[in-house]
Amino acid sequence: MLNVDLIEKMGNIVGTENISVASCELYCYSSDASQIRGMPEVVIKPRTTAQVSDIVRLAYEHNIPVTARGAGTGLSGGCVPLEGGIVLDMSGMNRIVEFDLDNLQVIVEPGIVQEKLNKALEPYGFFFPPDPGSSAMCTIGGLIANNGSGMRSVKYGTTRSYVLGLEIVMADGKIIKTGSKTMKTVAGYSLTDLFVGSEGTLGIITQAIIKVRALPKERSVIFASFKTPELAGKAVVKVLSSGIVPSACEILDSNIIRALNNYDPKLNLPQAGAILLFEVDGSEAEVKEGINLIVKACEDLASAIRTASDKKERDEIWAARRLAGAAISRLDPVRTRVYVGEDVGVPIKEIPKMLHKVDEISKEFDLPIMTYGHIGDGNLHTGMCIDMLSDEDWMKLNAAADKIHRTAIELGGTVTAEHGVGSARSEYMRLELGSALDVMITIKKALDPKGILNPGKMGV
Ligand SMILES: Cc1cc2nc3c(=O)[nH]c(=O)nc-3n(C[C@H](O)[C@H](O)[C@H](O)COP(=O)(O)OP(=O)(O)OC[C@H]3O[C@@H](n4cnc5c(N)ncnc54)[C@H](O)[C@@H]3O)c2cc1C
Repeated sequence: MLNVDLIEKMGNIVGTENISVASCELYCYSSDASQIRGMPEVVIKPRTTAQVSDIVRLAYEHNIPVTARGAGTGLSGGCVPLEGGIVLDMSGMNRIVEFDLDNLQVIVEPGIVQEKLNKALEPYGFFFPPDPGSSAMCTIGGLIANNGSGMRSVKYGTTRSYVLGLEIVMADGKIIKTGSKTMKTVAGYSLTDLFVGSEGTLGIITQAIIKVRALPKERSVIFASFKTPELAGKAVVKVLSSGIVPSACEILDSNIIRALNNYDPKLNLPQAGAILLFEVDGSEAEVKEGINLIVKACEDLASAIRTASDKKERDEIWAARRLAGAAISRLDPVRTRVYVGEDVGVPIKEIPKMLHKVDEISKEFDLPIMTYGHIGDGNLHTGMCIDMLSDEDWMKLNAAADKIHRTAIELGGTVTAEHGVGSARSEYMRLELGSALDVMITIKKALDPKGILNPGKMGV
């Protein structure tokens, strides 16, 4: 248990200005962007790897839970300290340690915000492609810990594809380095891959070697509107099998279209059953060819197709798309968006079936479900809004979310394609992973025998 003596020792490690037990501050660290809550006993803001190591060693000696936190934009309760103890706010460790662009890489601390890294890379003609809707807020450490991704992962892959190596503070405070600065290595188990997506349950990330890519010269966006989401789903399967790899392939259903038009009437999106937004990037010739192939693949299924190459229009569309999750609440002032069951993924062939099932579930529970997301990866965000004061709405919401999760698993999919397991989805881990969950539990016990790192998460 934490006592005054221990708090004082921790203050001596990080400096008294970087530690707080004030209840107003603890409250600020008791949630992320989900509805999950848990109060820490102390918040610590380390500035160096050595400080993280010393704090974690002390926590290990005294069996105190340690939960790492980036920006707290997670949607699964990942950084919520369910068992109290220490929250390590990593956002102050936010330096770019090295630009090594001749080797197509940078070394960063985990607290740097995604968009800030890309702004720093842009003048050199490079970027870090994973592009979540939260890019203006979330940290690289949070992205690595969740293996986050976003609109560009259909072409560029998830965060995992860009992590060459990590510096990690282990549960007993030991510091290790995984991976290397080479583009390939097969030396030993791929520990880097083990820590990517481990949600702070196996170690604390204190530094990362990140691979970057050259910025594409051209981009163009295509809008295609459809009478139903299923027709849009069929068009996605057709586009992806036609040989073109779009740099984004997003779906907006009719409710989201209405919400976005309410949010910004200038957008004037056509009120269709669903819209697909495709982006193509590359050289001028590649973009031209990509547009032709997408138009050809969609023309028999779509009711209208339009291309936007003008940068201003493109930027506005993507800015609005990023706000889709928040704009949902514009539909009805009484209802609030609750993040639950919002991140399923299915194999590409099953997209039309999943869209159809979501529609059935919405009707069965008489609950509006707004579907949007990275459909090119089979990743759907099913946004549900309820009256937070209505017990009946909460029951419907949880039952609908449960059905959405189970449907995704039945279709060979996953309960979380990018937002993470956290505590929101840990109850589905046995169903989705089967006996592979036992291997995860074995790994967790080996690396964190006292179970102090982010306890209560991921089903381990
Ligand atoms: C509006 C909005 C849009 C979003 N869109 C997307 C999207 O398109 N794609 C997507 O993938 N996600 C999206 N998210 C979810 C969220 O932004 C991501 O999960 C992101 O990776 C979380 O980063 P963070 O810095 O906020 O991490 P936090 O929420 O603080 O933490 C997330 C997890 O990472 C762990 N962690 C954080 N830092 C470290 C560290 N240094 N070492 C070890 N573990 C650590 C935490 O313990 C926790 O388990 C969205 C969220 C919002 C609010």
